[in-house]
Amino acid sequence: MATHSLLLLPGDGIGVETIAEVERLIAFLNAKNTSSTFNVERDLVGGAAYDKHGVAITDAAMAKAKAADAVIFGAVGGPKWDKVPYEHRPEAGLLRLRKDLDLFANLRPAICYPALADASSLKRELVEGLDIMIVRELTGGVYFGEPKEIVTLENGEKRAVDTQLYTSREIERIAKVAFDLARKRSNKVHSAEKRNVMKTGVLWNEVVTQTHKSYAPDVQLEHILADNCAMQLIRNPKQFDVIVTDNLFGDVLSDEAAMMTGSLGMLPSASLGSPDAKTGKRKALYEPVHGSAPDIAGKGLANPIATIASFAMALRYSCDMGKEADLIEKAIANVLDKGLRTPDIMQTGMTKVGTSQMGAAIEKELQVLMA
Ligand code: NAD
Repeated sequence: MATHSLLLLPGDGIGVETIAEVERLIAFLNAKNTSSTFNVERDLVGGAAYDKHGVAITDAAMAKAKAADAVIFGAVGGPKWDKVPYEHRPEAGLLRLRKDLDLFANLRPAICYPALADASSLKRELVEGLDIMIVRELTGGVYFGEPKEIVTLENGEKRAVDTQLYTSREIERIAKVAFDLARKRSNKVHSAEKRNVMKTGVLWNEVVTQTHKSYAPDVQLEHILADNCAMQLIRNPKQFDVIVTDNLFGDVLSDEAAMMTGSLGMLPSASLGSPDAKTGKRKALYEPVHGSAPDIAGKGLANPIATIASFAMALRYSCDMGKEADLIEKAIANVLDKGLRTPDIMQTGMTKVGTSQMGAAIEKELQVLMA
């Protein structure tokens, strides 16, 4: 029997409530005694860690994160910590996790459950059954390149500079993540850049083309200019399977794609590092896209689906449990088909439920699917 080690970091606000629903599913899967079992550790992050230890994440929690097969993260932040020193603000915990685990690949799926297709701003026929994966390079590019500064010129004018910078190694490793993912999906990758006006785009295009030839000739590859990609996502989103792109374009395109599918409460994500030279395992962190939602925290109103779907991604990408991941996603779709809705996705004629009722309904559905 395989044992998978998970570190749960609920964090603050609704993170605590939505991670509790993941714990419910972990307990169910452990009791079910399938071919895998989970060894679970918990720790503090964000404001909760600051309150207890004076830092947004402790070295001990970082050591647990490094040792785990997957970190499942809730959310951090809230008005209570608005005035803490900048280096200890709740977000610093998440940034340290991303940096120290070198999580360079951000996976943002945009899945439109048929039951929620009418909540999209696009027509039902364009989005129903949509299933795209945006792979965004997360640790390089214009958000990190130097120089990065605002200087005052001799004439008193100010000048701001950000530097877009990529090495071939950075491009190759993210391209490989995209090709690996495509093989588990519909085998198609679009690589988006701006080679017509940017040198980084020229190199991106070259390296993705070379990596395709040497590493993944079996996968279908198309290059697309990032601005055209933004248009095509609105015109005909179902033409895409995996889109790989840099940090800046990925930031924008992943939000664009995600919003076609409805509420923030539905959006999972994963961040992956390089494969370990010996074991081939990647460091990985899974988290909902949303924040700690202080406006609804503690009221049992949060939608747990984004966090549960993030857990399903952990099963698929870190635990080699693709079958169970598929079943969790199917359970989510079935519960939505039956009309259960948390307040953020409520529609007329549906049944309004709270966080734990939604989690319990997904568990019950999973029980039926795994019977
Ligand atoms: P938010 O995502 O927390 O909330 C935005 C809106 O969406 C709110 O009205 C909230 O009630 C709603 N919402 C979000 N998730 C929901 C869910 N699962 N179910 C139902 N409704 C949901 O963003 P914000 O309000 O801009 O930020 C609040 C705090 O969260 C801030 O401190 C911010 O810094 C932090 N934040 C953290 C992360 C993270 O931990 N990764 C990400 C974004 C924001």
